[in-house]
Amino acid sequence: MNEIRGGEKLIVALGEVPASSLVRLSAMAVIGVLAVVTLLIVPIANEPVAIMGGFVPAFAAVVVVADLLTAYLLWGQARAGRDSAVAALSLTYSGSGFLIAASTWLFPAAFLVSPARVGNVSGWFWIFGHLFFSVGALLYAFYPRAMAQDDSGFLRSRRRMRMVAVVLLLGLYGLCESRVLAPIVGYGARFHSPAWLTAGSLGTTVLAVVCLAWRRRGRTVLDAWLLVAVSAALFEEGLVWLGGSRFCVSWYMSRLMSFTGALAVLGACLFEINRLYSGLVRNREQMTGVNANLRAANSELAVRAERDDLTGIPNRRAILGRLAQALKDHRREGSGLSVLMVDLDHFKAINDQLGHLGGDHILAQVAVRLKDAVRSSDAVGRYGGEEFLVLLQSARAAHARIVANKLLQVIRAQPFFYQGRAVPVTVSIGVATIHAVDQTLEELVGRADQALYQAKRQGRDRQVVAERPNEGP
Ligand code: GH3
Ligand code: MG
Ligand code: MG
Repeated sequence: MNEIRGGEKLIVALGEVPASSLVRLSAMAVIGVLAVVTLLIVPIANEPVAIMGGFVPAFAAVVVVADLLTAYLLWGQARAGRDSAVAALSLTYSGSGFLIAASTWLFPAAFLVSPARVGNVSGWFWIFGHLFFSVGALLYAFYPRAMAQDDSGFLRSRRRMRMVAVVLLLGLYGLCESRVLAPIVGYGARFHSPAWLTAGSLGTTVLAVVCLAWRRRGRTVLDAWLLVAVSAALFEEGLVWLGGSRFCVSWYMSRLMSFTGALAVLGACLFEINRLYSGLVRNREQMTGVNANLRAANSELAVRAERDDLTGIPNRRAILGRLAQALKDHRREGSGLSVLMVDLDHFKAINDQLGHLGGDHILAQVAVRLKDAVRSSDAVGRYGGEEFLVLLQSARAAHARIVANKLLQVIRAQPFFYQGRAVPVTVSIGVATIHAVDQTLEELVGRADQALYQAKRQGRDRQVVAERPNEGP
């Protein structure tokens, strides 16, 4: 069974789900009840009971369907868990299911109009069905588990195995039909005349129970309930042997044992599948929560990666990214584009005066003023220490000059304040407008930078517009 517990993915094949002490106790309790019932029946084992019409087909139908369904579920588990021991068990269940189906079909007076025709063939199928089951359980008990985990070769050859199983079953049926075996049993003889064979099948089942209990010790859920199934088969065979005839107390009780045995592993499979389902639903809910948290963390990270911590405006990477996009838009639509490189004047002196924390405070306030002074379609980013890059979309040179003047004005008009102290600040601005010759954004930013140096050289607190780039010869 593939299982998910507490949000962590824990994939386990059904053959590996460890049996809790409750599971072991329940399995042992069922075996105990079956044993007590068998013992209680001993004194009245041979009491005849009325023949119930339709009992055999109805009862056998349940057992056969349960066997085949178990085989189907186990096969799915074997494939998912790549567990060839479980695959062998699946074949065991399907094989014995088919044999029991054949036994029922040939049971005198169950389906056939003329029971005399088949003699004791039904009994043979019953015996072979039980032998097949016990031998399969023995195989499972001794299957080399260490190998089984990755032994996908076994699973790959499943078609071949299915063929072999079908041929064996057909061969067996043919043998019985052709009455090769019939003389051994003897027509007209009582069903239990081949006592040695019945006892042999009983012996194999005893062996299977002992080996399962000794080898597997009910370690997994599958082991625990398979032990119940094999024990039920043991009690069933014992009761049939004890009764000596059909339609007596022990014969009817043996059917009930067979019923319990057929449902043991099927019940365990369904229980575990249900648990897996609940686990999956729980896990999906947890995953949804985890995904939402991840998405929130991702968008938070994306915002942080683009934002300057000190000023809260786009950082250098982000503003250059916006500029690259604006450059593309301009090339596509020819809408115009200007940049302003803004640098605080004598900021070193402000730092010396206020300390670095004070300088930081001033920088953050300058960023706010710059941002508030431009249109929302424009952008202000922190380019370097005390340098800001302003991106003016769709702006020709004349408009860029107007904006630069406005920025000079908003910075110089009112002093900034730090701890109650007024701090006058001015900036210098280099203005550059995109030109057909500008190939890259670095060229555009470079020209704004050159203009900024000129503004500094010319005395600061001013703007200088970059010269048109050299258009070449
Ligand atoms: P100029 O007018 O020529 O631009 O002079 P300036 O003093 O502004 O220029 P300079 O390049 O000499 O000094 C820039 C100063 O900015 C030096 C550096 O300590 C300071 N600075 C850079 N980044 C930060 C920051 O994040 N916080 C603070 N408080 N100071 C910074
Ligand atoms: Mg400066
Ligand atoms: Mg500077």
